[in-house]
Amino acid sequence: MTRTAVDRYRVVGHPIAHSRSPEIHRAFALQTGQPLVYDRALIPLAPPEAFDDAIRAFAAEGGRGVNVTLPFKARAFALATRHSDRARVAGACNTLILGPDGIAGDNTDGPGLVADVQGRLGFGLAGRRVTVLGAGGAARGLMLSLLQAGVASLTVANRSLDRVGALVEHVERQRPDPDAGAVRIGIASLEQAPAADLVINATSAGLLDEPLPLPPDLFRSCGLAYDCVYAAAPTAFMTQARTGGSRAVSDGLGMLVEQAAESFMLWRGVRPRTAPVLAALRESLTAASAR
Ligand code: NAP
Repeated sequence: MTRTAVDRYRVVGHPIAHSRSPEIHRAFALQTGQPLVYDRALIPLAPPEAFDDAIRAFAAEGGRGVNVTLPFKARAFALATRHSDRARVAGACNTLILGPDGIAGDNTDGPGLVADVQGRLGFGLAGRRVTVLGAGGAARGLMLSLLQAGVASLTVANRSLDRVGALVEHVERQRPDPDAGAVRIGIASLEQAPAADLVINATSAGLLDEPLPLPPDLFRSCGLAYDCVYAAAPTAFMTQARTGGSRAVSDGLGMLVEQAAESFMLWRGVRPRTAPVLAALRESLTAASAR
């Protein structure tokens, strides 16, 4: 393995042009005085080995770490030779650490959400009822972090019941040493999603800008409705939640910055300050939408 003078990192996915990760990590690097290069790479969807080949080639060129986005998080998990608990419970990796002893896989989506919800929004998770909408890669990444934050109940509601069943079975099998009193994860359809203190939208439906088919009273006792999707204007889910009675709503830009900070910490051993980076990103998102 060759080592270049400046450590190299990248984000990979398909598509990838929209990714804000290079901007975020360059800001972290500047702020913390860490010399590094961070770029993006589009990986072809086929053949499936294209992902593995691209990561191995980057490692052979001296690459030190990779962020992985749609649709390769499960493939990244399969490629990694070692996994953190949260990656194992998710069955998906958004962060790879490339080293002489192999590829370590982690998942920072859960810590990212928890940091944003508890830290920035001041919404404590201990003892709360939580409903997660969606059973894809994002929802999987949240499970262990929500359980470890001490939630009182956790239900995953999804359009396809097969998929949510598979998610919960996987998480229950993989979660580390649940004791007898541990919270068991519930399953529901979107139409029967239970009312909760915190409702998290981890579906990609928001991209269509249409309301989800949710029960009318879902948000009546809701303290925070959190959309993992982010946008310059309030998302369809945020509007739906506010109209339904949720006391507070947020999009997922803070989660994006916090999950990046956790990856940065894993790679560099330094935790960047997220507030100024989030503020700059919000400003650039708003300015771009006004053009
Ligand atoms: P994914 O693996 O493709 O899963 C998509 C989920 O959305 C599935 O549960 C799917 O339900 C559901 N869905 C899609 N279209 C729907 C519709 N029209 N009505 C109802 N449900 C629908 O995607 P993902 O990786 O989980 O990502 C989900 C979203 O989270 C994406 O928009 C992503 O950008 C965002 N995200 C944000 C962050 C952040 O840092 N802010 C991090 C990770 C992900 P079925 O199972 O029934 O198909």
